[in-house]
Amino acid sequence: MRIGVLAVQGDFAEHIAILRRLNVDCLEVRLPEQLDDVSGLIIPGGESTTLSRLMSIYNLREPVQDMARAGKAVWGTCAGMIMLAHEITEADPVPLQLMDIGVRRNAFGRQIDSFEQELDIAGLDSRPFHAIFIRAPVVMRVGDKVKTLATLADGQAVAVRQGNLMATAFHPELTRDTRLHQYFLDLAAAPAGGAGRGS
Ligand code: GLN
Repeated sequence: MRIGVLAVQGDFAEHIAILRRLNVDCLEVRLPEQLDDVSGLIIPGGESTTLSRLMSIYNLREPVQDMARAGKAVWGTCAGMIMLAHEITEADPVPLQLMDIGVRRNAFGRQIDSFEQELDIAGLDSRPFHAIFIRAPVVMRVGDKVKTLATLADGQAVAVRQGNLMATAFHPELTRDTRLHQYFLDLAAAPAGGAGRGS
């Protein structure tokens, strides 16, 4: 199995490093045709407005939408979560509308308001996950078919899954904890058969 990491902007190198530690064959994706060679795709954190523009320029929007709808696993972290949303509270960027979630960018304030937090994540073992939030988004609306995997103490959703798609507001690739990457590899190995289907 080979996993692609969208490598047009953001912290793709950190995702690649953690996948290598898990002995996963991985590919930096910059060209649409490279998506044919992967079983799953990670859209990393970065700056979603730039990411969105570069995805348009590189003709990557439709091919990513097609692979998600065909049932391949796609995981967006932070800016990647913003890209997977159905709607966001700002006009820019235009998201890919793959997951039935509404997302607010920079929900916790500016860079200086970044924080770290232990989270309980459904589907992982009971050890808390050390989550790093950097100018992070939050899920404002969770659609019927979307499962919330983790919330902050006040109930705001920060990790969600919809069939073969998942999104996290924080950055697992910046920790030594490989459990969410392993969770994603399990999704990629057993695709649910199209965006929004399966559980
Ligand atoms: N604030 C960024 C955005 O709106 C996301 C930050 C991140 O990916 N760490 O795109």
